[in-house]
This record gives sequence, C-alpha cells and structure tokens, in this order.
Amino acid sequence: MKKDIEWEKARKKMVKEQIEKRGIREEKVLKAMEKVPRHLFVPESYRIHSYEDHPLPIGEEQTISQPFIVAYMTELLELDESCTVLEIGTGSGYQSAILAEIAKEVYTVELIESLSLKAQEVLSSLGYKNIKFLIGDGTYGWKEFSPYERIIVTAASPTIPPALIEQLSNNGILVIPVGTYSQEIVRIRKRDEKIDEEILIPVRFVPLITVQ
Ligand code: SAH
Repeated sequence: MKKDIEWEKARKKMVKEQIEKRGIREEKVLKAMEKVPRHLFVPESYRIHSYEDHPLPIGEEQTISQPFIVAYMTELLELDESCTVLEIGTGSGYQSAILAEIAKEVYTVELIESLSLKAQEVLSSLGYKNIKFLIGDGTYGWKEFSPYERIIVTAASPTIPPALIEQLSNNGILVIPVGTYSQEIVRIRKRDEKIDEEILIPVRFVPLITVQ
C-alpha cells in the first residue's frame, strides 16, 4: 500500500504529463485534478494503476474515464463557483468530485444502484456536501432541480436526449459524447432557445442505457 505522499506525487505527475502537456490550461481544473484522490474511486485491485493514462473498470461492466478526458470535458464546461451542474452517469463518483471542487452544486444521476451507493460512500467520506444523488435513468435528466447552468454526460448517446436540452438554462453549456461505435465529444450552447453545436474530439465511452 502506498503512502499518501506517494499518491500525491503520482497525481502531480499525472497532471503534468497527461493533462497540462495536452493543452489543458484552466487553473481550476488542474487544481481539482491535483487534489482529488483518484485511487479511492477505483477497486482496490486496480488502485496501483489509478493515475495511469487510461480508463479502468469499476464493476458492473462500467469504467472510470481516462484522467485526460475528465479534465478535457471539465474544461469545456467553463465552470465557476456559481454554477449548478447536472451529471449523467455518476459511475465511481470521480468526475462528480472534480465538478464539486469547482462548481456550487452537483446533481448526479446513475442508473445502477450499487455504483451510486458506492460513489455516495466515497464522496461522503471525503467530505463533499455539495453533491446530490439520484438513482434512475438520466436520459430524462433530473427535472426537479432544473434548469442547470451546465450538464455533462459521461456515457455515449446515439443522439442528444431532448430532456437534457430542455433542462439546460439559457446561456448554459452541455458536454456529451455522441455516437455508438464511433463517438465524438459534442459541446452545445443554448442561447435564447437557439442551439450552437461544436463537434470536438473522437472518444470511446460506455453506452448510455435508456430504460424503456
Ligand atoms: N463519470 C464516471 C464514469 C461513468 S461511466 C466516473 O467518473 O467514474 C458511465 C456511467 O453511466 C456508468 O456508471 C453507467 O452505469 C451510467 N449510465 C449508463 N446509462 C445511464 C443512464 N441512462 N442514466 C444514468 N446513468 C447511466
């Protein structure tokens, strides 16, 4: 078992070599990535690999995204401390922690109960108080607390779920991997009911499952 100081060293190296080197400049994002103990969000048997440059299994055939992708999507959201964020796909809770470091409030939805419960346990043990959890199908968003200034989806959807556009505030930003076999990160800006769409980098995410 590594000591905290060694994990910290691994984290610093991850930020420098995988994230800064690939062009992520936003200070808030870099700081959050340096702070959040990623190794606590992965199963013990994978902990030793938790700061490496790839995704890892978290059980239930799901994965925690590669560190760079987490940083990249977070930077695209242009977050500040006044934002409320909706996240679809809590998974391990790692991305939720990164968002909660920067934003005011994070609302996170996960379909698989066991994953949500595990994430809730880790995040509460780390002292996060600005994250609210819902177990359910995030294709329909989380209407109760909408609209959200920012929305991030961490599973790939063949098309952009209409409920998410509806639940986005005016001037809001939505970041989502779109596609099936081949996928791209898409950033949507909503301005006076008009939608601007930017198609960004190719990615590989687990699918967003829609419950009929
Ligand atoms: N952000 C996560 C990565 C999640 S992987 C992290 O940092 O660890 C994608 C997650 O989306 C999986 O946990 C999967 O169960 C969940 N998911 C898939 N379809 C979903 C849906 N319709 N609603 C909510 N969550 C969903």
